[in-house]
Amino acid sequence: MIPRSGDRDFDLALAHTLAAVSEKLEALPSFAYYDDYDGANAYATPKVRMNNADGTVLFGQRLLSRLMSGTESPEVAVAAVCAHEFGHILQFKRGLDRVVGVGQPTVKRVELQADFFAGYFAGARKLERPNFPAAVFAMTQHSFGDNMVNHPGHHGTSEERGAAIAKGFEAAYREKCTLAQAIQISTNYVAGL
Ligand SMILES: [Zn+2]
Repeated sequence: MIPRSGDRDFDLALAHTLAAVSEKLEALPSFAYYDDYDGANAYATPKVRMNNADGTVLFGQRLLSRLMSGTESPEVAVAAVCAHEFGHILQFKRGLDRVVGVGQPTVKRVELQADFFAGYFAGARKLERPNFPAAVFAMTQHSFGDNMVNHPGHHGTSEERGAAIAKGFEAAYREKCTLAQAIQISTNYVAGL
């Protein structure tokens, strides 16, 4: 586990954003980078690796450099992936991953609910900061869509991932849903996919 990215300003800005994600999603995992030598990735685990009780989010250094080389608000793209992973931490805390994933041949519903929660954060953030570029959340997750629809690791197509972000965004930004309401709406939403 690697505590810092090497860019102090970036680390400070991301720490602020992650504190806001923790507050909106009521999930407080430890966060660190790791060496994703076997393929650019980020993941969430309920395992407590440091001192925060809600598990751990690990962000690959390769994925970080890939997102940072993008032109459109790269730090917001990093935040989008983090918010998705914090969404998984929320699922682990509330047992939602079991509820939405039960009997499913792929992890799609679990992943799209995490995208919904990332979108929910983006909507809540935009209410507080009208300049927040929430569309970057949808573009980022859209870019990670896959078409391996029968593979157990299928996360959702690009269209499904972008749509899940948009649904979560609307729940916060337009409907002003509480987190409890967003959990209910997202559970119903992914059950219909
Ligand atoms: Zn995920």
